[in-house]
Amino acid sequence: MSGVIIFILVTIILILLIFRKRKSQINKAKLPENFRVLLMENVAYYRLLNEADKLRFENKIKEFLSYVRIHAVNTEIDELDKLLVASSAVIPVFGFDWHYYNLRDVLIYADTFSAEEYSVTSKERNILGMVGTGAMQRMMILSKPALRRGFQHETDGTNTGIHEFVHLLDKADGEADGIPDQLLDKQYTIPWIKYMSEEIEKIKEGNSDINIYGASNRAEFFAVAAEYFFEKPDLFKTRHPELFDLMQKVFHQEPATMKRIHKTDEE
Ligand SMILES: [Zn+2]
Repeated sequence: MSGVIIFILVTIILILLIFRKRKSQINKAKLPENFRVLLMENVAYYRLLNEADKLRFENKIKEFLSYVRIHAVNTEIDELDKLLVASSAVIPVFGFDWHYYNLRDVLIYADTFSAEEYSVTSKERNILGMVGTGAMQRMMILSKPALRRGFQHETDGTNTGIHEFVHLLDKADGEADGIPDQLLDKQYTIPWIKYMSEEIEKIKEGNSDINIYGASNRAEFFAVAAEYFFEKPDLFKTRHPELFDLMQKVFHQEPATMKRIHKTDEE
């Protein structure tokens, strides 16, 4: 009998020790001293947050960098590149708690790369970013110029980093199909599919301002529309009110914009 009790006690102590170790690992990633300046200068999304949210954003970045490794392939990367990858990861999930279980490594390439190099079937536009499948599971590939360009032109409605992380969110339920089951309440799935399909048709007819690449399939539509949603929320809301409303439900947030911030200042 006492053997059983000792066994149970030892098990409990072990679990507690493991849990403590896990907890202490969170927030472990060390950021460069000037990381706030780098974020302020390069990440518009961060710049528009209030002080409390800026802190929350920083903590999410630290947490992300504690479990995802970023590697440079045939190029060099600096602290800013790492911060931009982490920002791309944090922006879409800033409205809720999220751990990218389906990601372990991000490879940064000097330029674009071909899908054949990785023996994966992907029709991603000549290729700026990619989420791995098969042997490349839990891996993301990004082109360094594309990553940087996404943040340099803050309001052009495109951001490769955000695009790829939205694919990961989409894939979290097992399938990249444009329907993020884990994020969107079931009651909104049917309207989401409806508006998505309608807009894809409009893109094909040339009657939509959403990037034509979004007409490739629903997964690409979701990723491309998300880039637009995060980079030009005001315009997206005006031109696509129903989609905007649903995207807000998917991401559990309404991205801050200069316009809205100025409005609050005046009030
Ligand atoms: Zn894509």
